[in-house]
Amino acid sequence: MSSILPEYNSDATSSDDAENEEELFTKRVRSNYIFKSKFDSRAESKSEVLAQKSWLQRFTKNLEDDKRIYYNCKWSRKCPAKMMLIIPHNTNEVFQYVTDAAHNHKIKECGLPEVTKAAVKKLFDVGVRKPNAVLKSLREQ
Ligand SMILES: [Zn+2]
Repeated sequence: MSSILPEYNSDATSSDDAENEEELFTKRVRSNYIFKSKFDSRAESKSEVLAQKSWLQRFTKNLEDDKRIYYNCKWSRKCPAKMMLIIPHNTNEVFQYVTDAAHNHKIKECGLPEVTKAAVKKLFDVGVRKPNAVLKSLREQ
């Protein structure tokens, strides 16, 4: 197992199509990325990012040594929480970095199992909106 992590801030001299957007991005948010976890494959990183249910892919940068995928918080564009995947070209491993800023809002859709969410949505669709009525209906199901 390699203990050498890619440097996230070594791309200052790079230039490619994503540069302008990246510039805007860094101007708006001075993000301080911290290493979070390492995945053994692209597939593993993809399913883990999906499972975290917090990230919306913004743009990708291809650098000499690695590819970087930048993510924003999925729930709020004003949220300072950001995430980045670094995929070195010479390995299958994927490194996940997150900003040290916490989400500045409540994370929606957490805690309810998919089945319950679907049931609640169905009730909403037929006009059951009062929390007590929703709970009563759910219990009956
Ligand atoms: Zn957030």
